[in-house]
Amino acid sequence: MKHVVILGGGTAGTMVANKLRRRLPRSEWRITVVDRDDVHLYQPGLLLLPFGVYEPKDLIRPRDRYLTDGIELVLGEIDRVEPGGNQVLLEDGRVLPYDQLVVATGTSPRPAETTGMADGEWRRSIFDFFTLDGALALRDRLASWEGGRLVVHVTEMPIKCPVAPLELTFLADAFFEERKMRDKVEIVYVTPLEGPFTKSVASAHLGTMFEDRHIAIEPDFYVEHIDPDARTLVSMDEREVPFDLLVTVPLNMGADYVARSGLGDEFNYVPVDRGTLLSRAHDNIFAIGDANDIPASKAGSVAHFESDGFVNNFLDHVHGRPMTDLFDGHANCFIESGHGKGLLIDFNYDTEPLPGVYPYPRVGPLSLLRETRANHWGKLAFRHVYWNVLLRGLPMPVPSHMSMAGKETAGTSGR
Ligand SMILES: Cc1cc2nc3c(=O)[nH]c(=O)nc-3n(C[C@H](O)[C@H](O)[C@H](O)COP(=O)(O)OP(=O)(O)OC[C@H]3O[C@@H](n4cnc5c(N)ncnc54)[C@H](O)[C@@H]3O)c2cc1C
Repeated sequence: MKHVVILGGGTAGTMVANKLRRRLPRSEWRITVVDRDDVHLYQPGLLLLPFGVYEPKDLIRPRDRYLTDGIELVLGEIDRVEPGGNQVLLEDGRVLPYDQLVVATGTSPRPAETTGMADGEWRRSIFDFFTLDGALALRDRLASWEGGRLVVHVTEMPIKCPVAPLELTFLADAFFEERKMRDKVEIVYVTPLEGPFTKSVASAHLGTMFEDRHIAIEPDFYVEHIDPDARTLVSMDEREVPFDLLVTVPLNMGADYVARSGLGDEFNYVPVDRGTLLSRAHDNIFAIGDANDIPASKAGSVAHFESDGFVNNFLDHVHGRPMTDLFDGHANCFIESGHGKGLLIDFNYDTEPLPGVYPYPRVGPLSLLRETRANHWGKLAFRHVYWNVLLRGLPMPVPSHMSMAGKETAGTSGR
């Protein structure tokens, strides 16, 4: 009996486990998923929780419920992988031998990596929203905040869901407006990028939305330290940005065991081939989702679009055939823009987000790079799609590879 071990039972690990179970004969392959706990968190919901849209109970489910029969869930902290011995060691001493390994342990925020961030002002005037605790603490602070200078800050790229801090900024603007206190709040967006987003067409569009909402932007800002007493962000080129309330996205890093196992780059991401997701160093290790180093967004949508091709490639690889279903970097992200509206962007390694309609030419019903109510409802509906279709590895009515259908290029209008 051969054994595939999947490290991480989050978005990517759960999806690929279910998809592999359908395709690998049970008489030949055992599948094990390892995670530290049995609590699956719907992370996109953390954006809306601080504004009272969701409660924690809306975002949490047991992992086990989403793993199909014939998949073993092992709960335990991963200590290290021994690629030479084809085995995984858990902190409690258990050893899991594997024939094929899939690393899907994602990325997590590391506030302690920035001097001054996690000190005395953490969760007093400095908040994150990439964790459940952080999002809850921010919700409580926003409920009683009387106004001042709100700074939304990105420490360093890459982060998971690179549009999430933009969305938080737009939602904060709308939240204060609806509470009739927008005139008491100055909003500043501080980013290491040269504009709001990594891709130029979307960045220009989002920049205009910032101007319309009187949101200031401080670009090219690499934080050197935070002075918690003076409530100031200080950059490497010695610029200072004061705040009354700071919502930061701390440095994101892959899991520490990846470094201990000699499998990662400087941020603990596993270097892989960007088409096949096979490790560049080990012929029986793949890395999928946020855990790998491909130059695509770290997003649940990317994990989803990677997963179909990954399963085809995995089957080819274990049968000694060339892997041909190459991932194209396809990502799509809803961008909440406040007051019940949102945008959608769809792009890949080679094509940046363009205006148009999605997923069907002419009819949409979603609009690309345009604020609509349908996009907002699409984002809210996605939570149900996530639990009931995506995680279960069921087919979705959108192609895994990015399509140009519906996109407007010079001389076309989304046909
Ligand atoms: C605020 C926010 C909003 C977002 N919004 C969107 C969105 O709108 N659209 C979108 O597509 N994406 C969004 N994302 C990103 C999306 O949630 C992630 O990209 C996605 O979950 C990545 O899946 P993954 O399986 O790679 O990692 P995860 O889902 O994070 O899973 C990793 C798993 O590994 C486990 N693990 C890690 N280390 C260990 C260890 N040492 N031992 C045992 N277990 C371990 C963890 O417990 C976790 O269950 C958002 C993220 C955040 C934080």
